[in-house]
Amino acid sequence: MSRIVRAARGAQLTAKSWQTEAAMRMLHNNLDPEVAERPEDLVVYGGTGKAARNWASFDAITQSLTMLESDETLLVQSGKPVGVFRTHEWAPRVLIANSNLVGDWANWPEFRRLDALGLTMYGQMTAGSWIYIGTQGILQGTYETFAAVADKRFGGTLAGTLTLTAGLGGMGGAQPLAVTMNDGVALVIECDPARAQRRVQERYLDEIATDLDDAVLRVTSARRQRKALSVGLIGNAAEVLPQLLARGLDPEIVTDQTSAHDPLAYLPRGIAVEDWTDYATKKPDEFTERARESMAEHVDAMLGFLDKGAEVFDYGNSLRGEAALGGCARAFDFPGFVPAYIRPLFCEGKGPFRWAALSGDPKDIAATDRAIVDLFPENESLRRWIRMASERVAFQGLPARICWLGYGERHLAGLRFNEMVASGELSAPVVIGRDHLDSGSVASPYRETESMADGSDAIADWPLLNALLNTASGATWVSIHHGGGVGMGRSIHAGQVCVADGTELAAQKIERVLTNDPGTGVIRHVDAGYERATTVAAERGVRIPMHEA
Ligand code: NAD
Repeated sequence: MSRIVRAARGAQLTAKSWQTEAAMRMLHNNLDPEVAERPEDLVVYGGTGKAARNWASFDAITQSLTMLESDETLLVQSGKPVGVFRTHEWAPRVLIANSNLVGDWANWPEFRRLDALGLTMYGQMTAGSWIYIGTQGILQGTYETFAAVADKRFGGTLAGTLTLTAGLGGMGGAQPLAVTMNDGVALVIECDPARAQRRVQERYLDEIATDLDDAVLRVTSARRQRKALSVGLIGNAAEVLPQLLARGLDPEIVTDQTSAHDPLAYLPRGIAVEDWTDYATKKPDEFTERARESMAEHVDAMLGFLDKGAEVFDYGNSLRGEAALGGCARAFDFPGFVPAYIRPLFCEGKGPFRWAALSGDPKDIAATDRAIVDLFPENESLRRWIRMASERVAFQGLPARICWLGYGERHLAGLRFNEMVASGELSAPVVIGRDHLDSGSVASPYRETESMADGSDAIADWPLLNALLNTASGATWVSIHHGGGVGMGRSIHAGQVCVADGTELAAQKIERVLTNDPGTGVIRHVDAGYERATTVAAERGVRIPMHEA
């Protein structure tokens, strides 16, 4: 059964409070056809990341949220509502656990067995925790990453450089725009023409080349003219990258965002897009083997570019891990993007802070954009981002914004938004949340916690403490997931969302949650021995028992 779901707009409640209305609108917004990759299957992004287990569960969650009182809490187990309990008004209205399996069982075959029995679902990060805001969510992180690459290697700009990458899906679709926002040229390989077309329509991708020769001509001439341009090329990355290497293309930067974390979501070479689902469903083991072999060839070509001096990095999709399983011995010769570029930001509790206007009115986001710039006038890159985002980012679903803020900053923004709701400057409440990819909310040895200074990459106590603390601090909904962007067995992470409904109670909760949540990022990095985190903790007054003077 195919259904169209869209969040309610405006200031009229359909649930009993804004706290529950917000959860409902954000669940529905995740499945808005403008937002979700495959809404008919409840898939929001990342190949298989779902908002609810099935349509019956979706309806039951909606029904529960409509009826839920301000002192009750709904429990959601892998996309299915399983209980309502009496709690209190400071408690979250929804607690979510998605895709969690016990260690020895936390692998794809076991997950798929349970999924086929209808007992679990894949929650990705913000799909199953109802705070995905479309491709913009990753755009800011991607923009930050490419800006960091520009700082590290190319004098602060990507002008005159070529970035070669693949994947134009929910996350990967942000790559071309993030590169052009940094003034560079991007060539993006995508096997599914519909995905590439969609990114052109959304203005994330400038154009699609007719063939390999045409693509090379377009990008090399733009690079020569130092003109920002993004070009899509329809093809299989495992075939096209080796071809580009062989013909001597010399991109300055090479990365990838195909859905490599799930071998069934990566198209092996030699298989047509039309045959993909059927083959993967009927012969998952054979398909997995072929996908891993192709990923090994794909990574071999990336290593070829590395050897020629390109800046090469894994963009958080487990491509190296899968390629290693496919027989690529040097797969880990290039780093993941977090240790390479993002960790210094995590030490300050900086991460992807985001909010959405429940009114549905873009004017509310424009007002919050101005408020953010006013609040942090000294932050030039934040200003630049907000200006470019307001000009170039098309909203998907409810209007939303993202920017990276750190410890001591996020709560100021949250409190300001709450005041704006109270004063009527905003026409309805806003939700404030974040990605699970944040400074203190994730254990993921192939991504966010790769190569930690003290070797603590796989310690997953931190995201669990993060979720417990957010629950204790007054978040409106809190989630704990397994798997996410890197796949089963490889990460545990937590999310929180607060609702700024303009009340005094919301202000108190927001102040605590948006201080404490990034605070766990600071303490996690202090504990691992990062100097920058220790300085931030001392300067901004984060209390850490064994580090107090
Ligand atoms: P998606 O499934 O929506 O898109 C993946 C795209 O890759 C699809 O369009 C698919 O057609 C294409 N593709 C698959 N195999 C290909 C091949 N061999 N050649 C060319 N194209 C191919 O997934 P997404 O939401 O875009 O996420 C991409 C990856 O990034 C996932 O592994 C996800 O888990 C990971 N991810 C990274 C971050 C991060 O911060 N870096 C965050 C979230 C997710």
